[in-house]
Amino acid sequence: MPSMIYRLQRIVQDVSRSPDIQHALDLIAQRLIADLVADACTIFLTTQDDPPVLILKSCFGLNPDIIGKVTRKFGQGLIGLIAARAESINLIKAPEHKDFILMPNSGETDFPVLLGVPIISHRKVLGVIAIQRAQKVFNEDDEAFLTTLATQLAASIEHAESHGRFRAFGSEKPEPAMHMVKGVAGSPGMAIGEAIVLNRGVNLEAVPDKRIVDRRPEIKSFDDAIRKVQDDLTQQAERMRASLPEEECALFLAYAQMLNSGPLIDDTYKRIEQGNWSPASWRDTVEEHAHVFEQMEDEYLAERANDIRDLGGLVLRKLMLEQSPYIDFPDRTVLVGDEISVTDLAEVPPDCLCAIVSAHGSGSSHVAILAHALGIPAVMGVPNLPVQQMNGLKIVVDGYGGCAYIDPDENVLAEYSAYFEEEEAIEQDLLSLKNEPAFTLDHHRIALYVNSGLMADLTPSLRSGAEGVGLYRTEIPFQVRDRFPTEEEQFQIYSNVLKTFRGMPVVLRTLDVGGDKPLSYFPIKEANPFLGWRGIRITLDHPEIFITQIRAMLRANIGNDNLQILLPMISGRAELSDSLFLIHRVKDEIDEEMGRDLQTPQIGAMIEVPSAVYQIEDICRLVDFVSIGTNDLTQYLLAVDRNNENVAGLFSSLHPAVLKAMRQTVEGANRTDTPVSVCGELAGDPLGVMAILGMGIDSLSMSAGSLLRAKKVIKSFSLSDMETMFSEAITMSDPSEVRELYINALDSKGLGGLIRVGK
Ligand code: PEP
Ligand code: MG
Repeated sequence: MPSMIYRLQRIVQDVSRSPDIQHALDLIAQRLIADLVADACTIFLTTQDDPPVLILKSCFGLNPDIIGKVTRKFGQGLIGLIAARAESINLIKAPEHKDFILMPNSGETDFPVLLGVPIISHRKVLGVIAIQRAQKVFNEDDEAFLTTLATQLAASIEHAESHGRFRAFGSEKPEPAMHMVKGVAGSPGMAIGEAIVLNRGVNLEAVPDKRIVDRRPEIKSFDDAIRKVQDDLTQQAERMRASLPEEECALFLAYAQMLNSGPLIDDTYKRIEQGNWSPASWRDTVEEHAHVFEQMEDEYLAERANDIRDLGGLVLRKLMLEQSPYIDFPDRTVLVGDEISVTDLAEVPPDCLCAIVSAHGSGSSHVAILAHALGIPAVMGVPNLPVQQMNGLKIVVDGYGGCAYIDPDENVLAEYSAYFEEEEAIEQDLLSLKNEPAFTLDHHRIALYVNSGLMADLTPSLRSGAEGVGLYRTEIPFQVRDRFPTEEEQFQIYSNVLKTFRGMPVVLRTLDVGGDKPLSYFPIKEANPFLGWRGIRITLDHPEIFITQIRAMLRANIGNDNLQILLPMISGRAELSDSLFLIHRVKDEIDEEMGRDLQTPQIGAMIEVPSAVYQIEDICRLVDFVSIGTNDLTQYLLAVDRNNENVAGLFSSLHPAVLKAMRQTVEGANRTDTPVSVCGELAGDPLGVMAILGMGIDSLSMSAGSLLRAKKVIKSFSLSDMETMFSEAITMSDPSEVRELYINALDSKGLGGLIRVGK
């Protein structure tokens, strides 16, 4: 018998390629009966109801008429018991168990031996798989096999469930129904728009569906692509003849022949006729044919699936060259993707972009931060987002709750349209605060700055009523290029920012790449990028990059005199003194070149690595100010990857441990008379604003989109109230208690609309 891992892989692979959830479940049930020499297999899935119910979705070996008719509550019967206890059961005489409930007309009395396991994903019981036999108890290996399979299937079932609903093209099933997807809140706000999936080109799996009206140009581009690939293959066979044996060259010709006519071509035409564009039609045909080969027991034939996929890739590349790279972005574009990058954002004209929905990432990912900066809602880390099938569909995005409705029904549309009006009213109220200074009720003045980095967010930043730029992320102009920007290019960018905010302080942060901020032209391969070569570590190892940047900054400051420099990822004194040495050297050089004595800008350190918190006084003695980066500080203190949706629920900058570290930073900074501000996302969170002020910080920097909300909170509370709340928060042991404390405070002032949809 093939090894357990091989058998597991085959099942999981087949399931993940199933066209819909029912097909997947039936396949699992059949394969389990064969693999575990069982007589019957039943699969129950959990419904979305509250409380959830288990419903029989597939069964083999028992009367198929019971499918869809047997239901169990959690805790009811053996199946319900497995689900409620999230634990497997292995019984030789199931009917004698006190919880056994017979499924009437099923024929299960013939099979008293029962092994059942729960299917669990992220603590949620998705269903139960049970296998039964007439006799012979299931052994430990069987139990291990079924348990392992269930853990692997959980993700595939979730995936098949959400994707199965969206098989719109050529499917016999009805048109897709509304589908609610849940991720994490990335940026607040709500939007109704059209989903646009950017075309990443050459990967078959990444090709999105696209409805077409005119079939002819699609058929033509498909025919052209096929012809070109055939020509290439024939030429390659000719070229290789000199160096390869005849039978190897024949392979190229065999590939070319497969494209002459036959099912690969005909099936693709059929799909185009059904209204999907040629790349997605080709994708589905290739997948279907590759799958048929994979099913074959003969290993040689099963391997041929790879040939079909290779061929699929060749044709796809040509097809993509035929397609115009230009996308006609709708007025209300919701950018949807597996992973959305800064460069993806830059592709969409800013006035069209109204929201972002991403399968990966979390609320503190840099794309979410940019969404904040642009004032648009973002939902991040949506498991099983059916990206390929979403292009062109209407979508409602709720950036507060971290959820989205794909192809929403009339009720959801009506509900959110009504919220729209409430949101408008809140926005109008906030706009009236724009030119007002931020005073607490007991007259303490709070300084509010913006975080910036995109050219597109400079104007909104200025218009937001900010008193300067508290954090300019210089890495963003680096990321949207295909090489390092020159000193002159940087000079232009920095001059523009400094000039735009003349008379107000502008904090330019030196390059902070690495971690989740890659540069395409400076690839770094590391097992743990967030613990690796990042921020100041890179720039100190590459002084030429650092020096060029500092030169551009200092030159740009001439005539503006509002520059402050901030150093990221400082973990100790040595990095600071090395950076300061280089900055002073550059200043001396420019002084010499220009024959004048330039003003030395204020220099600060980010406090975002835990070691910096514990060395705060040493650090403060070397700098003019410090700025707490709560995004990284939270990530490193809680050991939670800020970008990983699997642990997004654990990421909380309101965690009492983070609050204590911040308070320690404030106390150290106070002892050395060093000004301290906060520039992480917590500063723009209405709940975070109360905590930060309460711990004694009076300078905040945040995304332009958050500024007026923060101001509203500041003007609604007295500092002494916030100090009292903070002294309570810091004694709590759980972030959810802290959240509740601050949410109640907001609600008590009627300000719940600042953190949730509607008023
Ligand atoms: C932070 O870490 O809090 C911060 C402001 O920097 P970034 O999000 O750019 O890493
Ligand atoms: Mg940081």
